[in-house]
Amino acid sequence: SASQIAPPAVRRLEGKVALITGAARGLGECTARLFTQHGAKVVIADIIDDVGQAVSQTIPDSTYVHCDVTKEKDVQDAVDTAVSKYGKLDIMFNNAGINSAVNRDSILENDLEDFERVVSVNLTGVFLGTKHAARVMIPAGRGNIINTASVSSIAGGLTSHAYTGSKHGVLGLTKNTAVELGRHGIRVNCVSPYVVATPMSKDFFRLNEEEINNLYAPLRGAKIEPQDFAEAVLFLASDESKFVNGHNLVADGGYTIT
Ligand code: NAD
Repeated sequence: SASQIAPPAVRRLEGKVALITGAARGLGECTARLFTQHGAKVVIADIIDDVGQAVSQTIPDSTYVHCDVTKEKDVQDAVDTAVSKYGKLDIMFNNAGINSAVNRDSILENDLEDFERVVSVNLTGVFLGTKHAARVMIPAGRGNIINTASVSSIAGGLTSHAYTGSKHGVLGLTKNTAVELGRHGIRVNCVSPYVVATPMSKDFFRLNEEEINNLYAPLRGAKIEPQDFAEAVLFLASDESKFVNGHNLVADGGYTIT
């Protein structure tokens, strides 16, 4: 599990300040742990406050803020908290995401309310996070924005229409903002995980951890862990990827090759 990660020999985010949305659990939590092990200070932003606060207490160099990514004031305040508490914002990781309540195959059965809810968290949330991170990164003349997309940013038919539509949108927004913000020394990239065992995927696909790890992937013996995803995010967050901009880093064991 995430808490069993061995301390790294080289700390790749020494002195950096990161804000991670949806970091109370799942992939965001795992990334928060990895980032702090690499020397970063991390603001954990989420809406499940009791869980987020408890997690923050187990991660030295972290702080928790309530932040609903669909609410501009919340996002603005979370960014300002990072700056006031830790002095700056180097890395904005727009990771919060949800899926449809029920996976209905037919668009005729998809209701507008569910569609808009998914788009507002997955796509509008990335827009707001990027906007407010850019507000403090542009004057600094540097910054690093990473968005969580999904294999559903490039492939259809895996999950709900709202989810796939919103994740394709995340990729488009990533490319567009990378063009603009690159002029200010700010990189914008996204990561696209395949199905990883988290509360979200277990709820949505109604699969247990073993079943998730037995899903088809062309990489023989690949057992997908949240840690694998967090390592891809770490690469984008670190200076080792300093020439990578507007990229979709697909971490799917090769699922979307064909
Ligand atoms: P998760 O449900 O375990 O964690 C998501 C977190 O986001 C939760 O803590 C939740 O409270 C938070 N959140 C939900 N709505 C929010 C809002 N409005 N404002 C702030 N926080 C909110 O899910 P996860 O699997 O860790 O997902 C993280 C990201 O990875 C999502 O963007 C998801 O779409 C993406 N992803 C997941 C998988 C997978 O299989 N798990 C695959 C591809 C992409």
